[in-house]
This record gives sequence, structure tokens and C-alpha cells, in this order.
Amino acid sequence: MQHTSFIEISKSAYKKNIDFLKSEVGDKTEISIVVKGNAYGHGIENIVPLAEENGIRHFSTFSSDEALRVYNSSLHNSQVMIMGMLENSDLEEILLKEISFFAFEFDRLEAAIAMAKKLNVKAKIHIEVETGFHRTGFEWDDREWLGKILKENREHLELKGLCTHYAGAESISNYVRVRKQIKEYSKFKKWLTAEGIKFEKYHTACSAATLSYPETIMDLVRIGIASYGLWPTMETYMYKFQTLPEQNKNPLKRLISWKSSVMNTKTVKMGDFIGYGSSYMAPRDMTIALVPIGYGHGYSRLLSNQGKVLIGGKIVTVVGTVTMNSIAVDITDLEGTQKGDEVVIIGKQEDNEITVASFGESTQQVNYELLTRLPLDIPRRVVE
Ligand SMILES: *Cc1c(COP(=O)(O)O)cnc(C)c1O
Repeated sequence: MQHTSFIEISKSAYKKNIDFLKSEVGDKTEISIVVKGNAYGHGIENIVPLAEENGIRHFSTFSSDEALRVYNSSLHNSQVMIMGMLENSDLEEILLKEISFFAFEFDRLEAAIAMAKKLNVKAKIHIEVETGFHRTGFEWDDREWLGKILKENREHLELKGLCTHYAGAESISNYVRVRKQIKEYSKFKKWLTAEGIKFEKYHTACSAATLSYPETIMDLVRIGIASYGLWPTMETYMYKFQTLPEQNKNPLKRLISWKSSVMNTKTVKMGDFIGYGSSYMAPRDMTIALVPIGYGHGYSRLLSNQGKVLIGGKIVTVVGTVTMNSIAVDITDLEGTQKGDEVVIIGKQEDNEITVASFGESTQQVNYELLTRLPLDIPRRVVE
């Protein structure tokens, strides 16, 4: 059965992104590819093998179900790290599969130790410390108790990492807050080290921190959005721009293209309304094309009367409201558009391009949101 649209994922773009990120972090730092949100909408099962082809052996997820999907799609026994949700009832399977996870509160830490004892294995944990994000992480006042537990249970734990997450490294407005976090983290690190508690890897940086605060690049970086070829924000790009070499001012390449095809064409007389209600009245005799994607496919209703797509290499505009399953676009000035012609919603066609960021400008959606809202049932295929 044909779907109404499909998503292509570019292998060559992915390689360029990984090469760039490797050159940014240097060869002493491991890159963990963040694949939460179904690999930012790209599909965990597509991204894991692609990343492994490029030498990646470490993946980060939000939850245990995602971690199992990574585990099952890895061909190289890559390490998997859960940064967020993990039920104590899933601990047994996670421990047996040697998946590592963030421990940010005593309940999980103690449950992990208990399960490790029961199974006679070591729990691979990353201690997350609170430095100012104020979501998860052990507090400074927890340190004595935390230190005691870690020391007393050495034989049941593998201390894989000491970590934290920055609250807004993608914007200069958070500069003071991020600086403070860097300090807080190093305070924890010092204290734990003085107690004789050492970790295999120290890691704090996401894409924005890696690109804007090089001192946050430690033994490992957790990279999501940049690996998919998008800047965390325009600001991160502007900041980085000055230091990029002249021949590579645009080192991150979008992986995703989203394509559909013309479902129907129709002529509309001047003065007629197009689609539901009266949001668009034809200002002249027009030809429109129906494209079978709508808000039910992640194409926001906010793009009514303003979204752009490419047909025949030209930019055309949505007319009328975006409906659940379709949009109408104005093709009056195109010649010979027919049912079945390719429609590009994100990506290139001849000399024109619709970027992911361009959606953000008209819908206030950030790159992250647009990608992760692409429905799971749109087929994804990896192309060269
Ligand atoms: C999402 C996330 C990352 C990656 O963020 P990007 O901005 O996509 O690079 C890193 N660390 C944690 C804890 C995260 O939740």
C-alpha cells in the first residue's frame, strides 16, 4: 500500500555531520548519539546502523523502551545509556543487557544496587548531579549520603559516568546560568574525587554546549540535534559562524527530506472560497493542487495560508486552511503540473529548498518539535 508521503534520510549528509562533530570534539572524546524521540523523528532503527557505520558505539535514550530498540538494532554491541525514565520493574532486563542509566535520586540508586546484588552483576550507572537545570539530579546536600552509598556498594556498581545537563546552552541569555552550572559540576567532581570516587567518563555537553562552550567537552558528549544536521538555535550557528573555515561555512547537513505528490488539480474562479470556511477567497482565476498531507501528518494548522512547498522546482504557497489530511497549494503560475508530480515539503527540488528552520519561523515550532512530531507511520527510507 502506498502512503501519502514519505521521508528520506540521507546517508551522505549523516557522514558529513559526524565528521564535523568528530573534528569539533577531537579524538579523545567519545560521541554518544542521542536517539530519544524516535531519533528526533528519523527512526531509531534507521539511525543506529547508520551511526555505527560512521564509527559511533554509544547511544543515549530517554527511556528504557527506546534503549531496548537501540539494543536490538545495534550490530556492534554499542553501549546504550538511559538518561531519563526507567521503572524499577524494568531494572532486571536493563541490568542483564548491560544498559547503563542515569541515577539521579536515591530510590533508583538503591533499587539498582538491590537488583545488582540479586542478579550478581554490576549496575552501570551515571550519577547525575543537580547544577541548576532543576529537573533531575542529586543535590549538593545529598553528597555525603551519596558518597557513602557509592563507596559501600563498590562491588555492585560500575561507575560509568558523572553527568549533568545544561539549562539553555543554546542562547546567550542563559550565559550566567550555564557558567554557574559548569562551576557547580566541577565542585561535585572535586568533592567526589577527594572521597576516592572516580568515574569512567565525565560528561555534560549536549549539541549547543559542545558548539558554544568547548570547555564542556569532556570524556563524552551527548549529541542529538546537531547529528541530524540542525543547529540547536540560529544563535548557536551565528556564534559558531565566525570560527568556521571559509570553505565550510555550513558544516551541518539536514538528513531529512519529506515528500509527497499531487493528488488532484482543480481550477477555481475568482471570488470563490478555497477549502473550509472563508479563510481564503481566490483573488483571481486560479489553479490549485491538493497535496495529501495535513495536521494529522504533522503539518501544522498554523501553516494555513502561509506554508510553502516545492512543485516543479518552484516555491508554491498553501491557500486556505490546513485540514487533517490535506492542503491546497496555488499552482496558477506553474505550467503542466499533474496528478502524481512530486511535492517537497522539506528538502530540495532543483534550485529551491524548504528547510526545517523555515517551519520554525512561521509556526514558532523549534527544530526539535517539528521533527519529533512527524508521525511514526510515515515511511522512512535511507538514501545515499
Ligand atoms: C536531549 C538531551 C541531550 C541532547 O540534546 P541536543 O540539544 O539535541 O544535542 C543531551 N543530554 C540530555 C540529558 C538530553 O536530555
